Amino acid sequence: MFAKKCGAKARTNDHKPCRQPAMANGRCRLHGGKSIGPKTEEGRKRMIQANIKHGFYSAESIAERKHVRAIIKAAMGNV
Ligand SMILES: [Zn+2]
Repeated sequence: MFAKKCGAKARTNDHKPCRQPAMANGRCRLHGGKSIGPKTEEGRKRMIQANIKHGFYSAESIAERKHVRAIIKAAMGNV
């Protein structure tokens, strides 16, 4: 019996799929097999925070800019 292959897309090795044995989630230790992702809601929030650089394009800040622009436009009337 052979372990199931990882099969992740390789960027080296002539772009052949990874031949490492896969772990429980179907990927090898080098291609995310060890990671099962954040388990708690708190851990998820912490991960999102860690990956945000400035938040300029977050849905929240886009909506805020849109709102401010609408107020300015309304205040200026038809110019
Ligand atoms: Zn792999």
